[in-house]
Amino acid sequence: MTHRPLIVGNWKMNGTIGETLKRVTAIDRQLEDGAGIDIVVAPPFTALYSASVALQDLPIKVAAQNLFYESEGAYTGEVSGSFLKDVGCDYVIIGHSERRHIFHEGDEEINRKVRAALAAELAVIFCVGETDKEREGGQTFERIEEQLRIGLQELHVHDIEDFCIAYEPVWAIGTGKTAKPDQVAEVHDWIRNYLAKRFDAPTANSIRLLYGGSVKLGNAEALMKTSNVDGLLVGGASLDADEFVGIVEVAGHVESP
Ligand code: PEP
Repeated sequence: MTHRPLIVGNWKMNGTIGETLKRVTAIDRQLEDGAGIDIVVAPPFTALYSASVALQDLPIKVAAQNLFYESEGAYTGEVSGSFLKDVGCDYVIIGHSERRHIFHEGDEEINRKVRAALAAELAVIFCVGETDKEREGGQTFERIEEQLRIGLQELHVHDIEDFCIAYEPVWAIGTGKTAKPDQVAEVHDWIRNYLAKRFDAPTANSIRLLYGGSVKLGNAEALMKTSNVDGLLVGGASLDADEFVGIVEVAGHVESP
């Protein structure tokens, strides 16, 4: 691990404003000091503003879980990158497997979202990962290559200063099945090499690679010690403030392999 670790809590569609503020306060109360690690939480759209106001003097940044690729106009129900900036977001998660599978977002649409996020000066957490069927069919790298090739279309070195890629095997999300460290290392090493070819080695090394998929306190250390893992994207376990702070602390103490 060569970067400042990044731990992201994806709260998905959980939490009213009141519940979000309670969780944020509980995290803040328990967090000894955020030094040496970047922490991001992603509440639902409706709680983003309240969360960013509550967190403004704390070392915790706010992410949205999605955005639309147009900046404004007749797109009922959608939210643009500049609106996310307006409510205090610094990051946005794009291409999460729930967006891909439940809402049928394709790679081209995801690429438009990535470009819109960068245009709005949001740091992108771009998710990729294979399904169970793709892994069993020996198509893991083919699928991830496609997601990266299309998802990063038209991006240049200068676009991706604050870019993060989260490897989230679909079969490990919310299932309790965590990828084994050697499976994670194999994919993360592959992604780093792909990025070096796609951009250049310094750029590839500047992109933080996160692992996500049933991360919890009990497996965070082993995952953080895995080759080319610079951080974690945590779903279910991040809803529990004790567990999330525990994961943050583990990540802050892990030595680079
Ligand atoms: C996620 O939502 O990105 C995720 C990895 O979920 P979980 O940790 O619950 O598997």
